[in-house]
Amino acid sequence: MQQIPVNRVRSDSEIIERPQKFYVRLTEGRFQNWRRLVSGPLIIAFFLLAWLQWDGQPLLLFSFEERRIYLFGGQLSWHDLPLMAGLMIAGACLLFFMAVGWGRVWCGFACPQSIWTWLFIRIEQMTEGKASQRAKNDHLPLTGKRLLRRLAKHLLWLAFSFLTALTFTGYFLPVQELFVGFFTLDLSLAVWGWLISMAALTYVNAGLVREKICLHACPYSRFQGVMFDQHTRTVSYDAARGEPRRLRGKNGQDDLIPALNLAVAPMQTEMKKSAANDSSIADIKASAGDCVDCTICVQVCPAGIDIRDGLQAACIDCGACIDACDQVMDKIGKPRGLIRFASEVELARPAEEAGKQTLMRPKLAGYAAVMLLALGAVMLGFTQTKDLLLEIRRDRGALYTRLDNNQICNHYKIKVEGYQQGVQSVRISTTGLDGLTLYGDQSLNLDDNNAGWRAYRVCAPEPAGLTQEIRFIVETDGAQVPLSRIEKTTTFLTGSR
Ligand code: SF4
Ligand code: SF4
Repeated sequence: MQQIPVNRVRSDSEIIERPQKFYVRLTEGRFQNWRRLVSGPLIIAFFLLAWLQWDGQPLLLFSFEERRIYLFGGQLSWHDLPLMAGLMIAGACLLFFMAVGWGRVWCGFACPQSIWTWLFIRIEQMTEGKASQRAKNDHLPLTGKRLLRRLAKHLLWLAFSFLTALTFTGYFLPVQELFVGFFTLDLSLAVWGWLISMAALTYVNAGLVREKICLHACPYSRFQGVMFDQHTRTVSYDAARGEPRRLRGKNGQDDLIPALNLAVAPMQTEMKKSAANDSSIADIKASAGDCVDCTICVQVCPAGIDIRDGLQAACIDCGACIDACDQVMDKIGKPRGLIRFASEVELARPAEEAGKQTLMRPKLAGYAAVMLLALGAVMLGFTQTKDLLLEIRRDRGALYTRLDNNQICNHYKIKVEGYQQGVQSVRISTTGLDGLTLYGDQSLNLDDNNAGWRAYRVCAPEPAGLTQEIRFIVETDGAQVPLSRIEKTTTFLTGSR
């Protein structure tokens, strides 16, 4: 296996540990527009889906209370949860597929951690001003307007965190009751505990620790390197084009030499020699690269890294540095794309030699195959789900009882679960022996107690043999269309010797 070439320009600790606080500067551009196009509908879907109903039922609700999952007009039982696991496996494969092809685009464009972080940064800018202003104000005493602005920021962050926690919880508990309970302070202690924990997590993640979660807590950033290959397109700085960085100040070559750190060998060596031989600054300027060392790409980075240092675990491929650098290139009249989505192959060779990114790579094909397999299995699983489920247990207290009139009775516990839209009641009956009588609720309202255990007694004139078989039948009421029916066989102890 070929290793991706790495230009190590700083130690890992320098790159990963950034003790100083940084202030993210917001930028605009095509990748920011793409990000909004992806994240906007996702945010709207998150806040709306919990409220939407279909035919009087929630569109998406994982109801612990009713032990059923409402899924876009259909219903699943908890027994169908492996289907969700299958969906997750398919989703993970899609994630890996994208990572092999285009790096961490999921992280930069669709991951909730990133989306919420960007939202919190927007709130920060709305209340405390732009990054430069925030950096300046941080050194001043926190009084007057600055204090009010800081308070407003934290209050808005908190409000948004609680809204997030409430909406998320609304996918597990009826959302209307939850909101009413929240504003009337009428919720159980457990729900309060959950809501406060969720809100605190959102507040800390998106407001305070941000990129540190991506770098230290998210396993994806750790194993992304294993998935990448030399054709993986990630946000990359074109060092061959950008280096050596152009002079910014008036100090001549002193400004140039430190900027030569990045190894773009032949050209750089020539430049170093050139500087060492005290060539004219004009010559050096003429042969300098396109990077003007303005550091805007660093200022806009939500991970606080310098992409010019090369591929880094902290980079979430959000494209903010691309947009920022493109603006700089436009201003200095150079072609865009000094920072761009590019693979190692594309960076190492001219575009015409690098060829197109091939989709026929073993890793890509493997992930696509597993994803399609998982999706196929899940689809098949969905067609096998049942509207009615029936579970029978014998009462452990008594094997059987004999009545005075020579009737033998057996005792059972029965659980009926219904997962059909619009079906509230079912009938329960038994068959299999002459003179069989069923005692207990024979018409069940599943809305009142879906999947609850109920006690039944079945009696029959003393049958022959040590054991017999009887069948429990559960069917939806005739008035309800379409009809569903399920039956199960169980043993009936006769008491005969
Ligand atoms: S934004 Fe572009 S020109 Fe400015 S420092 Fe970054 S790479 Fe160089
Ligand atoms: S270097 Fe920063 S701004 Fe650029 S893609 Fe990576 S995380 Fe985004």
